Amino acid sequence: MEILSPKRLEGEDSFERSLRPRSFSEFIGQKNVVSNLRVYVFAASKRGEPLDHVLLHGPAGLGKTTLAMIIAREMGARIRVTSGPAVERPGDLASILSSLEKGDVLFIDEIHRLHPSVEEVLYPAMEDFSLDIVVGKGTGARDIRIKIAPFTLIGATTRFARLTPPLRSRFGIIERIDFYPVEEMKAIIERSCKILHIEIDEEAKSEIAERSRGTPRIANRLLRRIRDFAEVEGNGKITKEVALNALERLRIDRHGLDELERKLLRILVEDFGGGPVGLKTLAAALKEETETIEEVHEPYLIQKGFLARTSRGRMATEKAYKLFSKGVSLF
Ligand code: ADP
Repeated sequence: MEILSPKRLEGEDSFERSLRPRSFSEFIGQKNVVSNLRVYVFAASKRGEPLDHVLLHGPAGLGKTTLAMIIAREMGARIRVTSGPAVERPGDLASILSSLEKGDVLFIDEIHRLHPSVEEVLYPAMEDFSLDIVVGKGTGARDIRIKIAPFTLIGATTRFARLTPPLRSRFGIIERIDFYPVEEMKAIIERSCKILHIEIDEEAKSEIAERSRGTPRIANRLLRRIRDFAEVEGNGKITKEVALNALERLRIDRHGLDELERKLLRILVEDFGGGPVGLKTLAAALKEETETIEEVHEPYLIQKGFLARTSRGRMATEKAYKLFSKGVSLF
């Protein structure tokens, strides 16, 4: 279901921008990552050098783009934003790279999706700020190496394992961003409510935090929808009652699971005796793409302890069985 998608949905850009933390001190949580990045940024600034290339990896919606922008801002650098699938040919990347000025940041989202021939352009650029280009045609063609301005590449990926070793090895700084604990989600919700002038009570904050799947993007989206319910069916304030009612109407259960995930667990428990079942079999039973299940649903189900990934396939846990016992309420 779209409402729980950790990926940015169409039309959400300006809403997200308005809620985006603009400095390290505004950024909530990920303490270790932030404190490391602060040190690297401070040290590089002091030396007057561009920051080492940075790779941020972890599930979608947790703040990788936000951190990239904060890094650029704290370095006093300009940032140029693109993504793996958007750079189609080696020449496109070469032209972006040669237009960079000293100290600029180039942010490539979904960097694991760069075409191999495009990726090769990055190697000399990252390593010694140069580009290998071919001049002339046919038998007269020859390779020349040109210099580009020293820059910082910030790559973001949801699939760390998909990165090729040569690309991975060229990042000096690699940081993993993880799901946020409920307490930090509450703080993020509180901050968003302040910015959006939403009145909310403590209990409602907790209920939304519990169901936001440790993902700020989802928390902000839920907040926006629940505000609608509060305005139309209440007096505008988000109380626990308003929040729970809205969440049920949005079909998000008490564990933050959506219909597809409940169905996945039910199939696993009832049709396959708890597993192990291969990913492809599950995907076929759900009529869903394996990639979506692997990238979006499984990480959350595993993190919540409903699903285990074994070498023989996916297995339902004790906790998953309990979901379907009689008398257990979903919402
Ligand atoms: P990603 O690039 O990992 O998919 P984004 O950086 O685009 O995620 O973050 C999604 C949204 O979540 C942003 O609009 C931002 O407002 C919010 N967000 C992410 N991390 C935080 C945080 N630590 N504190 C407050 N808001 C956050």
